[in-house]
Amino acid sequence: MTNSKNSLLLLSGGLDSAANFAIGSERNEIVRALTFKYGQRAQAKELQAAIELCQYYRVEHQVLDLSWLGALGGSALTDKNQSLPRLNTHELDQLDIIKKTAKAVWVPNRNGIFINAAAAVAESLNINQIIVGFNIEEAQSFPDNSVEFLKKITDSLFYSTANHVQVSSYTAELNKTEIVTKLRLLSRPFPFEKIWSCYDGGDKPCGVCESCKRFLRAINLTTCTIERPVI
Ligand SMILES: [Zn+2]
Repeated sequence: MTNSKNSLLLLSGGLDSAANFAIGSERNEIVRALTFKYGQRAQAKELQAAIELCQYYRVEHQVLDLSWLGALGGSALTDKNQSLPRLNTHELDQLDIIKKTAKAVWVPNRNGIFINAAAAVAESLNINQIIVGFNIEEAQSFPDNSVEFLKKITDSLFYSTANHVQVSSYTAELNKTEIVTKLRLLSRPFPFEKIWSCYDGGDKPCGVCESCKRFLRAINLTTCTIERPVI
């Protein structure tokens, strides 16, 4: 992690990207946040969360349209005709199960596209670092969430960006419970009520998709009093 104070944040509006926003803001590193619209079910909710987080942390917000990515189809995350997998909490660490559920919501090369699109924006602004919201828990079933991927795509960007954009994450080696714990230690209260961590885009988080379940487990395992989102 460079200490450049010149970083672009990928912001979906979910727990992990918002956590990186909070930590990066505490370090005064984030100069702009970037949110992608790609036809995801939760697009409107994610966008609303991202806008509110940018207002809270007083950072410029940019939205990029990648609707062609969702239009490729084949993913329950972008196709409302496909049902989102539901998991029980005890299944969240069962590799055979979560590899199947990850496949159901997999969007072709999504994080690779996101990071490369962000790197183009970063290079154009002479920003040399991208911050992403990775975590070790989901890296079990999503290889594009892993520390290895961070290193490899940074290697790739050395060649494809003139200013050698690097990709980093403050949370890539933490699970979600550890992330929530870390957020409690920040000097500024973390706005749990502003984030949207549900795969679906209903009025309220569904409470049964994998992303909701992981978030709820992290909140419940954290032995502290934090404001619990209403589900
Ligand atoms: Zn959900």
